[in-house]
Amino acid sequence: MRFADRLNNVETSAIRELFKLLGKPGIISFAGGFPDAALFDVDGIREATLAALAAHPGAALQYGATEGFDPLREQLAAFMASKGAIEVAPSDLIVTTGSQQALDLLGKTLISPGDKVIVEGPTFLATIQCFRLYGAELITVPMDGQGADVDALECLIAQHRPKFVYLIPTFGNPSGATLSLQRRRRVLELAVRTRTLIVEDDPYGDLYFDAPPPPSLLALSAEVPGSRECLLHCGSLSKVLSPGLRVGWLIAPPALLAKAIMCKQFSDAHTSTFAQAAAAQYLAAGRMPAALARVRAIYAGRAAAMVQALRQDLGDAIDFVPPRGGLFVWARLTGSNGRCADGAVLAQSAIERGVAFVPGAPFFARDPDRATLRLSFATVDEDRIREGVQRLAVALGLG
Ligand code: PMP
Repeated sequence: MRFADRLNNVETSAIRELFKLLGKPGIISFAGGFPDAALFDVDGIREATLAALAAHPGAALQYGATEGFDPLREQLAAFMASKGAIEVAPSDLIVTTGSQQALDLLGKTLISPGDKVIVEGPTFLATIQCFRLYGAELITVPMDGQGADVDALECLIAQHRPKFVYLIPTFGNPSGATLSLQRRRRVLELAVRTRTLIVEDDPYGDLYFDAPPPPSLLALSAEVPGSRECLLHCGSLSKVLSPGLRVGWLIAPPALLAKAIMCKQFSDAHTSTFAQAAAAQYLAAGRMPAALARVRAIYAGRAAAMVQALRQDLGDAIDFVPPRGGLFVWARLTGSNGRCADGAVLAQSAIERGVAFVPGAPFFARDPDRATLRLSFATVDEDRIREGVQRLAVALGLG
């Protein structure tokens, strides 16, 4: 086979290899990046599906418009408006097949081989792979517990003149970090001043624990003149309702949206009308607030259990900032007392002790920090979380 040159830049992920080991019986897995299937609102989705077939029997099963099923675009615009003081018209967004497709469309419409794109170090692995597939040269902006370092971002923008900057400002994957309000304002001002496009990927913002996060960049753009034109926003129902529905959306300036629609036309024609009609009915039925309240409380409990267990059992062997939402604890092995300081090495011995997590290095587009790890608490109940962390302690020689 003679494959396209563009594949030369991309490898299958190291994480996929690790997932093959997860089938071992009895493993407690902190490795997934999924919501908990046991928390899906199956009754609500069943009702919404029946309602969709009753209300739109033809349209729900027919080919549809590339930009999305209008009743869903209306519901998504209302959903966005309900989350922040921002006006989003249905025509400001297109429905995508998961937000993953929105990222792919951004790659298709914006990246020429050799273009520079700034991403957080660390960032979502599929974004790294996707942008590389289009030939992007990825530059990483360092992060701390407050999200991306905006001083560093300013220097990198001046130095590299990137095609765009990709950020996951709220409860990032894998970092769990949330960009502070002050930094959000600075990012928007920087975007306006340097005429730089910013992509805000926000699949986790609704999954907060105690208090809502700062407003999204999109919502804040109302306060920073000129910033809305520099901003692209990707949303998703995957983490708040169901990833199997594959419903995401992209909000972007009209010129970009038109190109994205064109590319989507040649790709999948449209996102499943059936899924879109069901999602529209679900949102219209007003079930989202209660469903969100329920999953937030459960994830908050699991996150707290993990944070407490990590502090108690691993002590100064790891360092982390407790997440305030999302699905992940991002931690760094300190190597104290000569203990393991390599996430990939620890991942192997952890699997032997019956607990899995993802080493952090693959999440860096460059200069990987090998001491990092990503632990997801989302799909494990609190007792098993404590047991899993104990196993991790044993793998680190602390048991
Ligand atoms: N962006 C981020 C940061 C993610 O973590 C994910 C899923 N893990 C996605 C996008 C894609 O999600 P989906 O395509 O299911 O909307």
